[in-house]
Amino acid sequence: MRRALQKLSVAFALILAASLISSQSLPAQTAPSSKLSVHWEELTASDFREGIHQSQGVCLLPFGIIEKHGPHLPLGTDLLDVRYAALHAAAQEYAVVFPEYYFGQIAEARHEPGTMSYSRSLQLALLQETTDEMSRNGCKKILIVNGHGGNDSLLPYFAQTQLEKPHDYVVYVFNERSPDHGGPQKKSKIDMHAGESETSKMMIAHPELVHPDRATSESGADQARQKISEDIYTGIWWYTRFPNHYSGEGAAATKELGQYQMNWWIDSIAKAIKEVKGDDVSPKLQQEFYEKSTHPLDTQP
Ligand SMILES: [Zn+2]
Repeated sequence: MRRALQKLSVAFALILAASLISSQSLPAQTAPSSKLSVHWEELTASDFREGIHQSQGVCLLPFGIIEKHGPHLPLGTDLLDVRYAALHAAAQEYAVVFPEYYFGQIAEARHEPGTMSYSRSLQLALLQETTDEMSRNGCKKILIVNGHGGNDSLLPYFAQTQLEKPHDYVVYVFNERSPDHGGPQKKSKIDMHAGESETSKMMIAHPELVHPDRATSESGADQARQKISEDIYTGIWWYTRFPNHYSGEGAAATKELGQYQMNWWIDSIAKAIKEVKGDDVSPKLQQEFYEKSTHPLDTQP
């Protein structure tokens, strides 16, 4: 019995050796691809290292949300649109793009089905840990590309509060989604949410998810129920004006407007990536600031 086992183990060792030799004699496995993916999650660990090097430490964090978008657009409209724009921009001007992120401010849509609304403290904590972890992996310049209007206050606040304590990276926020002028003439006056612009862009990013025939089944008109002046802010303002979580006319959307706006968005993000790559002022002065802030009484004008 013992002899039989010994024989078996010798045979096994021979088979193993033979298989090792034959695998060594195989042609080299696929070499690392010359064109790196811009998707963080698609890179191998060693390609990730190369990606960080190639991007000069610039990483994008496209920031979406999950909320109702009128009666005709998918819940993930902001996430899908911002990823489409950011991924195309990074393909033009290389940067590593962080996976799907949608943990932002959307308390004002809690009355609508499908909304994912995280608490204020979790939004900030999760974003901080995410950027900290990105930096630990070599992203020393993090460009948050905002795809959601409800984050307009959150993200500059987040960036400002990076000065609270030292970080070895800089947070940048790119918060533009549509050009002010140019392109095909727009037909609607109000166009804030799931309206002409957003619906048009979705016709480019994911046309199969747009339902133009449903766009008029609810009203996206301003119901103008708020009577206090516009310079007094209150969180319920949006609901007073657009209780259907729809602002504008999705039915006015066209592919032509979508293509124009999407091209503008992609080019603008690509330009921002380039600028951030070239920015040596912010990292340097941010470090100087952190150092001075440990002994403010010594700081001279
Ligand atoms: Zn949106």
